[in-house]
Amino acid sequence: MARIELESLQKEFGETVAVNDISLSVPDGEFLVLVGPSGCGKSTLLRTISGLESQTSGDISIGDNRVTNVEPKDRGVAMVFQDYALYPHMTARRNMTFGLDSHVSMSDDEIEQAVQDVGETLGIGDLLDRTPDALSGGEKQRVAMGRALLREPDVFLLDEPLSNLDAKLRDQMRAELTQLHERIGTTTIYVTHDQTEAMTLGDRVAVMNDGEIEQVESPQVLYDEPASRFVAEFIGSPQMNFLPVDVEGRSRPTVTTLQRHLTSPFPTPNETSLPATDNAVLGVRPEDLYLAQETEDDSFAGPVEMTVTLHETLGDSVVLHGTVANERIRIRTSQRPNVTAGDTIRVVVDPTRLHLFDSDGDTLAH
Ligand code: ATP
Repeated sequence: MARIELESLQKEFGETVAVNDISLSVPDGEFLVLVGPSGCGKSTLLRTISGLESQTSGDISIGDNRVTNVEPKDRGVAMVFQDYALYPHMTARRNMTFGLDSHVSMSDDEIEQAVQDVGETLGIGDLLDRTPDALSGGEKQRVAMGRALLREPDVFLLDEPLSNLDAKLRDQMRAELTQLHERIGTTTIYVTHDQTEAMTLGDRVAVMNDGEIEQVESPQVLYDEPASRFVAEFIGSPQMNFLPVDVEGRSRPTVTTLQRHLTSPFPTPNETSLPATDNAVLGVRPEDLYLAQETEDDSFAGPVEMTVTLHETLGDSVVLHGTVANERIRIRTSQRPNVTAGDTIRVVVDPTRLHLFDSDGDTLAH
């Protein structure tokens, strides 16, 4: 069992608190993604788990072992870096096997067979005698993965391993990583700043902000029930709309927004009441706003008139930017509306998809 347990983990660089009192449990076999903006502490957290950085305080356990003060090489982890960290003068094969004998008890023949097997699995079986300068970015990435796989670690720690690849190869490698994980089931922590990568790869995703974990949940729960405005803003594209709002009635609340142009019941689960607040912010995702002509669902609130300022085509959908009563709004629709900047459209909202935040950015209700 290679569960990872972090207890009150803290890492400071002088005045900078890069990892701030993080406690986290990653069950055996989970693929956990750490995501967050640049500088939020993702890499430092990963490097502290690997032992490449020493913690300021707190404890780390992997499996049944407390590894807080154990050498990196004895922690049972294999790390893959963004820049692959390959030795330029060694062949792919040598890069994969270098130092391996101290990790696994295999004869030279067995190691040779294992390299060939891992090479075939990763689709680089024919390239093992090349040096890194004769390999593409994707192939180098596979060699780095192969090196990690051969060590048969208890835990994989991956730091933005796909970020140097072009978009197409990144998509392909992402799918391959998911399949690989389904096959071998090794507990994995994966760092990225890319929310699409996080959402598609993670069994669970931990959203980090300023050295802390804001929320750790399955991708769907993060999207549907963000615990804070920060998470709501970070997950989803284009970004959620945030609007000033009045809330009336605590147990059967009604929200009024867009300078009173839009009023809607706020269906709280089981009629639970909202906490009292005067400074709430309403969040609504662009894909939860619809063109009035798109829907005949009479539970939708509105319509309101939106003046279109920009029309972006994404291929499968269209993002319309505009204003309603001086508030800027984005809507995303899979319809292909024939509108251009300056046109007025009628917009409705699905009231079951509204989010409410307090002035500190904490979620009040979905
Ligand atoms: P990115 O996505 O840009 O890689 P990150 O979320 O991985 O960012 P970290 O690299 O972990 O963030 O950095 C967290 C904070 O710690 C930043 O403020 C960074 O400047 C600081 N930091 C990281 N490493 C060091 C170091 N060796 N010395 C001093 N400060 C550091």
